[in-house]
Amino acid sequence: MAKRDYYEILGVDRNATKEEIKKAYRRLSKKYHPDLNKEEGAAEKFKEITEAYEVLSDDEKRRRYDQYGHADPSQGFSGFGDEDFGGFGGFGGFEDIFDAFFGGSTRRSRRNAPRKGADLQYTMTITFEEAVFGKETDIEIPREEDCLHCHGTGAKPGTRPDTCPYCHGTGQITSEQATPFGRIVNRRVCYHCNGTGQIIREKCATCHGTGRVKRRKKIHVKIPAGIDDGQQLRVAGQGERGVNGGPPGDLYIVFHVEPHEFFERRGNDIYCEMPITFVQAALGDEIEVPTLYGKVKIKIPPGTQSHTKFRLRGKGVPNVRGGGVGDQHVIVKIITPKKLTEKQKQLLREFAEISGETIDEQTKSFFDKVKKAFKGNS
Ligand SMILES: [Zn+2]
Ligand SMILES: [Zn+2]
Repeated sequence: MAKRDYYEILGVDRNATKEEIKKAYRRLSKKYHPDLNKEEGAAEKFKEITEAYEVLSDDEKRRRYDQYGHADPSQGFSGFGDEDFGGFGGFGGFEDIFDAFFGGSTRRSRRNAPRKGADLQYTMTITFEEAVFGKETDIEIPREEDCLHCHGTGAKPGTRPDTCPYCHGTGQITSEQATPFGRIVNRRVCYHCNGTGQIIREKCATCHGTGRVKRRKKIHVKIPAGIDDGQQLRVAGQGERGVNGGPPGDLYIVFHVEPHEFFERRGNDIYCEMPITFVQAALGDEIEVPTLYGKVKIKIPPGTQSHTKFRLRGKGVPNVRGGGVGDQHVIVKIITPKKLTEKQKQLLREFAEISGETIDEQTKSFFDKVKKAFKGNS
């Protein structure tokens, strides 16, 4: 479901003042608070309202929201299980309100506590055969690393960051608010120091005070045999570096497998179509079929019908998790000749003439069924 616009949720104008936003939030949170409103969907609505308020009541967050909307690049990739970006918990409002209501303990960690680095995603295009047999290769990914100049502090070499005077180094600002339900303790990220708890007076010239620089890093990747289109490989510890001494994130390589012009893959099985002439189908023959492992001979028995499937065991794709190999399925397609010489036409006419007498029982009953269907129609 697409996320709704925060201004729309609170029913305020884009130019609304902080006071107007606060008023709208108070009115709506009273209306939808799950303690007071037992209607279905009220809790969801309340969550939505609180989330919108958390962002719009914070100058820095509101500015970023106005600029990027819900697609704030500082939020990293979604869906990769990074707890700090994984949905509502990261906003620092909802849990706090409930802690205040239900007397729960403060579970949230301080913003400047060690945090795991962001995960990175890299899309890699490989050929059909590379996916089947695997491959070792090097890739280069741009990622953030500690600035060597300031050792990641962001402060000019020889100086040190100061403790933030607004949050006293905690990275959070706590405020109390009286509401109809009691006092609400509201903790939010300190926007003076962005939650780091430190303020840099003299910035490092190399990284402009961020403590990080983008570098291209070469990583050796072992693509496992049997990987399929859309599957991903996790390379532990190769994501962005951690924050405040936390562990680095992970790198996720998502594979895009190019289609093959002859083979089609379904799971670990390979499908292909082989054209044969109707003479080969009628009289039987031995044909050569390409597989991923070289040519294989197949016996076409006399009287083979079009779309008959032949199975070549173990000629498919190895299981990516190890153990077992799929099969190749060969579907024969009978090709009707388009250009015939006079001699060929004459022979076919003769063939048709004598076919009436030699038709077998199974084919005869099939034609009889068709005849009956025509009668039923008239
Ligand atoms: Zn601060
Ligand atoms: Zn630096």
